[in-house]
Amino acid sequence: MKTDVLVVGAGGGGYPGAFRLSQAGMEVLMVDPKGELGGNCLYSGCIPSKTVRELAQLHWRNKRLLGSQDNLDFGKIQERKDAVQLTRFVQHREELEAHKGVSFVKGEAKFLDNHRAMVQGQEVEFRYAIVATGSTPSRPHFPGAELCLTSDDLYSYRTTFRNLPQEMLIIGGGYVALETATFFNALGSKVHVLVRSDRVLRGVDPDLGALLIRLLDSNIDIRYNSPILEVSKLGERYEVWFSSSGKKDRLVVDAVVAATGRTPVVPEGLQKVVEVSPKGYIEVSDSMRTSSPNIFATGDVNGLAPYFHAAVRMSVAAANNVMSGNIDSDRVDVRGIPVTVFTIPPASYVGLTRSQLRAMNVSFVEASYQLGDDSMAQMYDERGGEVRLFFEKSSLRFLGAWVVGVHSGFLINELTQAAVNGLTARQMSNVAEQHPTTNEAIAYAVRKLV
Ligand code: ADP
Repeated sequence: MKTDVLVVGAGGGGYPGAFRLSQAGMEVLMVDPKGELGGNCLYSGCIPSKTVRELAQLHWRNKRLLGSQDNLDFGKIQERKDAVQLTRFVQHREELEAHKGVSFVKGEAKFLDNHRAMVQGQEVEFRYAIVATGSTPSRPHFPGAELCLTSDDLYSYRTTFRNLPQEMLIIGGGYVALETATFFNALGSKVHVLVRSDRVLRGVDPDLGALLIRLLDSNIDIRYNSPILEVSKLGERYEVWFSSSGKKDRLVVDAVVAATGRTPVVPEGLQKVVEVSPKGYIEVSDSMRTSSPNIFATGDVNGLAPYFHAAVRMSVAAANNVMSGNIDSDRVDVRGIPVTVFTIPPASYVGLTRSQLRAMNVSFVEASYQLGDDSMAQMYDERGGEVRLFFEKSSLRFLGAWVVGVHSGFLINELTQAAVNGLTARQMSNVAEQHPTTNEAIAYAVRKLV
């Protein structure tokens, strides 16, 4: 069997590029063992976890603002999550139907060389391939690690995890650990977070991370320098031993969640064809091309920016570069891709922020606005947080920003437009922001400079 383009994995790094190539008249074969589009993001990641988040936040706001005493039915939250996932599976089936040039096969692709792969026992010859096989939760190494749940257990489509744990322990200090901690805290669980080192959110500007941590509900018990020693069953519960200031300590909880990072999934046989980094990511240039020029790798598997919207951007870029043959017509600047930690409250950033600018010796100025003064934040009585903008000192060209607090994930899109298009403070200030929305905080901040 022959195809123009083999797309391996039907998540954010896969199907957008596949659709684009089929619109351009190319024949595409897309493969995924799930038999559905949407990848891990839809099956067990962003969509289900953010559905739980939105409902947890509703419940928490109801309790806090309206004094609602309703008993929470966690099973209903999981049902709603499944319903949202199903809606999107169906929507994707319709999109697939509309792209006749894409043949979709349920199965795994295994590579034979840089022009041949096995798909469902059949040899497929391809001119180009886009590898978008994503990542999977990593299992930590300590006795009893197999007793821990992962984010897949919490959020997968039709998961059996349907009872709210009264007390929960989360291992890890990354965004999945913190997000999950805030969701279950808002739902009413007692949550402990055990962080191996002395800080959370590595890779995020330390000042932003510290600000977010200060705003998290103080009921969440975060313990630093607390590596796990062992997990075991204690009747229906779990006993967790960990080290704390050099001494052994323990907690007994109803559920233990390991949120200890994600590991890239490289399809069988591909290691012999393309270069893979020591950490297991497929190495790519900014055009998404691997060391084998007709093979592209997009999304989590290349490790550049492990977010669905980044995968989509990379997928489209790979498709554009397939269409332009040996010329790289589209390059991805990952600094222009916004990131949101969807904790309650959330934190977002884009571009270059304080610690990077200092490290790069750039002369910059800051402008900020405290959300305590924002009308929408006042309506929710969630007044912590800020918008903080960074500009090049001489030109007042916008370089980057962070937003912590209500609706940060919406505000960051406007700031992404400004960063990607290199706007100046004056250009950003010449707009009437919709009132009353949190976006006004951007205009208030920027007007302090012009
Ligand atoms: P991304 O957002 O980076 O595209 P996801 O993790 O959301 O990544 O999706 C990756 C998809 O790739 C998953 O649906 C997974 O089932 C699929 N996949 C993983 N390995 C293979 C393989 N060898 N062949 C085909 N599909 C694969």
